[in-house]
Amino acid sequence: SIMPATLAAISNSAKKGVLFKGGVHAENVSHVKAIAFDKTGTLTNGKPVVTDVYFQSDTDKERIIAIAGAIEKESTHPLAHAITTYSLKQQEINSIHVQEMKTISGNGVSAYVDNQKWEIGRAAFVGEKDALTFHDGIASTLANEGKTVVFVKVEDQIVALFALKDTLRKDTIKSIKALKKQGIHTVMLTGDNKVTAKAIASETGIDQYIAECLPEEKVNYVKELGERFENVAMVGDGINDAPALASADVGIAMGEGTDVALETADVVLMKNDLSKITNAISMSNRMNRVVK
Ligand code: ADP
Ligand code: MG
Repeated sequence: SIMPATLAAISNSAKKGVLFKGGVHAENVSHVKAIAFDKTGTLTNGKPVVTDVYFQSDTDKERIIAIAGAIEKESTHPLAHAITTYSLKQQEINSIHVQEMKTISGNGVSAYVDNQKWEIGRAAFVGEKDALTFHDGIASTLANEGKTVVFVKVEDQIVALFALKDTLRKDTIKSIKALKKQGIHTVMLTGDNKVTAKAIASETGIDQYIAECLPEEKVNYVKELGERFENVAMVGDGINDAPALASADVGIAMGEGTDVALETADVVLMKNDLSKITNAISMSNRMNRVVK
């Protein structure tokens, strides 16, 4: 049965936008010593926009933009949405017939158009060596600006590069600072490459970052943190984050996250407000003093 003090604390928290799915979670939050954050959609708004596009040659630019937009239209990834939006601003894409579209989690997408294989995704997905030499290594310059770089490959040739920039949530810097002040170790987990990850991590002030982290690696990393810090929380929004949310001592989902993340989490931040995590910890501390 649930203690009255716990019930009161849960109901007060709900009014403030933090939804605990049970008394045990409200209790556990105060024990958290480290928090892992997903990057896209959690520390950032998750609404990247295309800032730069580079092509292999001057021919076929419009067609490449149109096909990339048509392929990404079938993906739910925030980067995909940004590429489709960019494409639609300049091209008509309805006439493009996309076949055998596949999502390769943490990497990108592939599809066939006019019997040619198209792949859109990160450097390691399209071939690191060609990706890094494309346009005299422009990718590393863009990544240093905190941009995510996505390559477009047709058969065995990289034909274009999209750079995309996401913005930090308005409370991210403040929230990380407050958590660090509470003595909590903070880590960013991202599928992005090291250079982009480093640029964004330094914008946020977070203690540590893990780049090129595949969805299944997020789980391993949360477990590893658990060994170092005993009680670990994971904050995320995506389908990809669900296994990591489940393996953390406390799984925290962003309110506008995907259904799977919301269902898996122990705690939901209803207004996507990261600063509510510090409130939840203080509340849990107070509650545990009363209950014990
Ligand atoms: P994150 O959660 O940090 O955005 P993901 O694990 O979802 O990372 O993806 C890792 C990388 O794979 C992205 O940074 C991007 O380069 C590439 N990628 C994933 N999905 C797509 C997609 N639909 N289109 C293009 N690139 C993608
Ligand atoms: Mg995310």
